[in-house]
Amino acid sequence: MDIKTIILGGVSANCYLLKTEKGFILVDTGRANRRAKLEKELESAGCRPGNLNLIILTHGDFDHTGNCAYLRDKYNTKIVMHYDDFGMVETGDMFWNRKAGNRIIRRIVNVFFKITKFKPDFPVNEGYDLKEYGLDAKIVSLPGHSKGSIGILTADGELFCGDLFMNNSKPSISSIIDNQEEADASVQKIMRLNIRIVYPGHGQPFPISSIKI
Ligand SMILES: [Zn+2]
Repeated sequence: MDIKTIILGGVSANCYLLKTEKGFILVDTGRANRRAKLEKELESAGCRPGNLNLIILTHGDFDHTGNCAYLRDKYNTKIVMHYDDFGMVETGDMFWNRKAGNRIIRRIVNVFFKITKFKPDFPVNEGYDLKEYGLDAKIVSLPGHSKGSIGILTADGELFCGDLFMNNSKPSISSIIDNQEEADASVQKIMRLNIRIVYPGHGQPFPISSIKI
């Protein structure tokens, strides 16, 4: 499997284009305002309508989901994510299932950062096997940043972790955690798994050994 890391810049999340034996899988889709750059990157990798088999969203935040409805139409593909974040993308409210954020913050965020509303095609949960899409990898449930946060763990020990970890200045646990207990449990779980490299939602990939807990 080839991994193309697509760093869109600004506050847009990274996208990861995975080339499998059956075509492509895209992990996260960035912010809508970075669409042109993303499309160019997909095109240069040879990703086109007919070979993008799946879009996996690590969670429902707008900086990860901004282009997925557009890409689903253009590439005639499917969008999957954890059921617990469905409401975020169906209502366009990133606080739909979150505890944090008072009403004023919620209103400001929801006015300035509108999520494109869409319906995912089907939910994926812990253990979901991506073999059918040509990828030797499984979904791991990693709640904490949001309730429905997931990672994708390949048989080679690569973890696409969404926003559980970030690497803006150095590898660390995300500064935005909605449920600390769940996040701690997710980190503990990761430390028990066979992981080599972490591909975060923000910043460059890093070896798991650089996370100190
Ligand atoms: Zn997020």
